Amino acid sequence: MTADKSILTFAVASFLVTLTLAFTPLLGTVHTGDYLTAPNGALLCPLPSEGFSYKPVAGTGPSSWAEISPCCGGSRQSPRNLAVIHGVGKCVEQTTRLHYNSTGQIEGHVFNNGKDPTIHFSSDATAYLFGAPGTHGAYVLYNIHVHFNSLLGRGSEHAISGRFFDGEVHLVHYKAEYGSVQEAVLHPDGLVVVALFLEEVNDNRGNGEIISLIDSLANLKGIGEEHQIPHHVNLAQLLPTSQDYYTYDGSLTTPPCSESVRWIVVRNPVYIHTLELQILTNLESADGGLISDTSNDRPLQTGDTEIQRNFACSHADLTLG
Ligand SMILES: [Zn+2]
Repeated sequence: MTADKSILTFAVASFLVTLTLAFTPLLGTVHTGDYLTAPNGALLCPLPSEGFSYKPVAGTGPSSWAEISPCCGGSRQSPRNLAVIHGVGKCVEQTTRLHYNSTGQIEGHVFNNGKDPTIHFSSDATAYLFGAPGTHGAYVLYNIHVHFNSLLGRGSEHAISGRFFDGEVHLVHYKAEYGSVQEAVLHPDGLVVVALFLEEVNDNRGNGEIISLIDSLANLKGIGEEHQIPHHVNLAQLLPTSQDYYTYDGSLTTPPCSESVRWIVVRNPVYIHTLELQILTNLESADGGLISDTSNDRPLQTGDTEIQRNFACSHADLTLG
């Protein structure tokens, strides 16, 4: 091999090594502690992420989550205070109503992981969500879980103009094209989460489907228990009839805090009764107490993505979703 060829070979090899290093995270496995930066600036971190808590203590509490997963220190974090100033550029046109591909019923399992009691759906029995603003294609319904607090009026993660609600249900979906939630969190358009505020009432305005789902958590006595829920989830009643919502690009509200979420936060609360709040606040936490002792709400974040709404829009301030 001549010196010239040798130099050329070295240059090509160096280029290939550089290219490989630059694109390895996109092509191979992304390990805990690694992150990707999407072209839009979103930080993307892999699942799972463990060792975090909601207690206000150093090391595991919310103020230390960025040490557990670098995404938690990003600039597109959730939850947010949804204070929308009505004006130009803050409206998104709802071209399609949010809807599932089926109005039928699906099976699910309830599980208490000690942090956020969750209803899981098996991948072959779930439904596909369409119509989320700023997205294309179908999103698979992955799980439904609840955030709450023992203090009335403080259980939601998001707030509207500084006002919190009694709780917040998250309907989590991943983009069908990515095949799994583990892959989806590594893409800026990987997830759609529909958030429903919960509000306690003492009349008959309760949302039957959400009430049934929360009631199904009542049988979970210990951590790690899992049961098939006694009724099938009625997809036609899962999404609210009034689809006024706030929407923005944000993150998971637990580590790894991947900035892969299109949030759709429904404006009007879903009503539940005192019994459902009692079921939630009696659920055991992973450390032997109750989840509600510390709540399972992440404090509000100051993200820099624009919060839009799809209601009270004039023609002048519409942008296509
Ligand atoms: Zn959540």
